Amino acid sequence: MGLSEEIRNKYQAVIGLEVHAQMLTKTKAYSNDKNEFGSQPNTNISAITLGHPGTLPRMNKKTIDFAIKMGLACESDIAPEQYFARKNYFYPDLPKGYQITQDTTPICTGGKVIVKDGEGAEKEVGITRIHMEEDAGKSIHDIDPFNTLIDLNRAGVPLIEIVSEPDIRSSQEAYNYLTEIRKLVRYLDICDGNMEEGSLRCDANVSVMLKGSSEYGTRTETKNLNSIRNVQRAIDFEIERQIIANENGETINQETRNFNAVTGTTTAMRSKEAANDYRYFPEPDLQPISVDQNHIDRVQSTMPPLPAALFKKYTQELGLSAYDAEILTDQKEIALFFEDIISNTKNYKSAANWLMGSVKSYLNEKAIGIGEFPISAARISELINLIDSGKVSNNLASQKLFPAMLESDDSPLKIAEVNNWIQDSDEDAIKNMVLEVFAENPSEFERFKGGEKKLMGFLMGQLMKKSQGKADPKSASKLINELAK
Ligand code: ADP
Ligand code: MG
Repeated sequence: MGLSEEIRNKYQAVIGLEVHAQMLTKTKAYSNDKNEFGSQPNTNISAITLGHPGTLPRMNKKTIDFAIKMGLACESDIAPEQYFARKNYFYPDLPKGYQITQDTTPICTGGKVIVKDGEGAEKEVGITRIHMEEDAGKSIHDIDPFNTLIDLNRAGVPLIEIVSEPDIRSSQEAYNYLTEIRKLVRYLDICDGNMEEGSLRCDANVSVMLKGSSEYGTRTETKNLNSIRNVQRAIDFEIERQIIANENGETINQETRNFNAVTGTTTAMRSKEAANDYRYFPEPDLQPISVDQNHIDRVQSTMPPLPAALFKKYTQELGLSAYDAEILTDQKEIALFFEDIISNTKNYKSAANWLMGSVKSYLNEKAIGIGEFPISAARISELINLIDSGKVSNNLASQKLFPAMLESDDSPLKIAEVNNWIQDSDEDAIKNMVLEVFAENPSEFERFKGGEKKLMGFLMGQLMKKSQGKADPKSASKLINELAK
């Protein structure tokens, strides 16, 4: 389309995201049917899922607790009294003809998520509400050329919908917000966060207004976004499309749009339903639920440490860089492993280096998660302490001891002892070896002494051979320099 910088800079984009997260419960939202991805089609379905007349829904308490966890993580208010609502619409994969959701009494209201803005500075994105609802089944159009196939396994799977305030100002910010939401649901273990498989879905509401304006423009809502990257692409396209429409004096219609990942474009799908099209009314078959403070406290006590709190601790208390803290807190399992390491050593920087270096490369190489890593956090702490006490050099630890620990359950100290790797910290012993190296290589020694500093590598090599890799390279090179004076 090609929009000049000048025109683009006249406008401000305004974005609000609606995120649906499939809850990792064992059973569905309002029945005992299994909530399981990948089952044979139409096997996790009872009369309730099928919406047969006379069947009654029953609330899955796990969903409530999962929604509370997300609310607590976003510092939302948890509503003490809630009821469910029916949202009526016809879909072939929605057998009841309505979705059970929450309308006027969402379980969580308010709150915030801290994200990086387009320039990398921290900002708050407000949460409007989080409510519980159920998923529809799946219509499959690409298996049978003549018919649409319907799989109702997903019908009734519990969802939470997280609605943000229109606080997001760029596609990059939207990307960061979604990454943060995905991190949170994964930390909380309430959703697997997989956008490609549809367990996390996002609708992007986008509008543009002239910079400095206090009134938001008309928004469009884009659906069918199956990766965080595609959310960003769709938003970029919408911003540009809407600016051009504005420049041409066209009006933006409030409508639902569809994203095409191949072309990177959005197209109009349908004009936006007004809320009264859904004929919301209170669900008469489910009792209102009440959540008291005791219950909230109980749920709170089962929460893991959250990435934002860990990030703060690592940067402010442990003195790690923001870069390190970011990587360490990206995945809960890695963060918890790090927490375990530092419960036994105070050398936080070294713990971070081992985890982000040798450990991560091993995980990448073997394509496994930290859960399958053969060395326990406790043994990594021992390794660090062994280095810090001067018993083994850093070099030896990473080249020999760490690989050996992958193959053995023994303590690093024992492995080092058995292999005769305990470092000669005795300076005299190394001094003698340095002198021996000099005596054995007189011409190299003379040239080194005469200023050919590149021979340091050769002399160090000889010394390492002699000491069987046990000499600490740093102090050894210092000794070589001193003794050659
Ligand atoms: P609906 O049911 O119509 O989709 P919701 O309340 O569920 O309404 O979601 C509306 C979403 O649109 C929210 O995320 C909100 O932040 C966002 N939004 C509202 N107004 C605008 C606007 N002018 N521009 C961009 N996003 C907006
Ligand atoms: Mg919506």
